[in-house]
Amino acid sequence: MSQAFIALGANLGDPAATIRAAFEALNELPESRLLACSELYRTAPVGMTGQPEFVNAAARIETTLAPEALLDALLAIEHRFGRIRAERNGPRTLDLDILLYDDLVIDTPRLTLPHPRLHLRAFVLYPLADLAPDLALPGRGTLAAWLPAVANQGICPL
Ligand code: ADP
Ligand code: MG
Repeated sequence: MSQAFIALGANLGDPAATIRAAFEALNELPESRLLACSELYRTAPVGMTGQPEFVNAAARIETTLAPEALLDALLAIEHRFGRIRAERNGPRTLDLDILLYDDLVIDTPRLTLPHPRLHLRAFVLYPLADLAPDLALPGRGTLAAWLPAVANQGICPL
């Protein structure tokens, strides 16, 4: 059994409902078990402004899916939620990223682990801290050490 942390993000429709439904979808992943869900956070968009606020969260799972198979399963869930969206001609409603998969460090065209920007984003670090406050980030020290640097990014519990 491996453990993985998944980041969830949504900013269209009813993002909080989407995130809760996505937790349910993670609970039904094959060869996997949902261990814990973080709190939900309201966060300011990073990069592209002028779009609605995001709701972000994270989940901890146990799985025997290989990392690439887990990515495929997550993209399939995104696609399922995306179809609902496509009828409204809206952009993607759900983003699911693999933050960490055990202590794996890999960099392939399809998959980079740990997620390359995870240590720079409050909307990832705060939910992760709910799940594993003492987490070590492979090659990047502790999660706790990165938190102060992102404290000025707009984030608050939903
Ligand atoms: P982003 O999440 O960066 O906003 P997308 O969700 O559109 O962008 O993801 C684009 C691609 O990123 C995915 O198709 C996937 O192949 C790749 N990718 C690389 N590393 C990861 C990771 N750790 N988790 C999820 N996707 C990843
Ligand atoms: Mg993504």
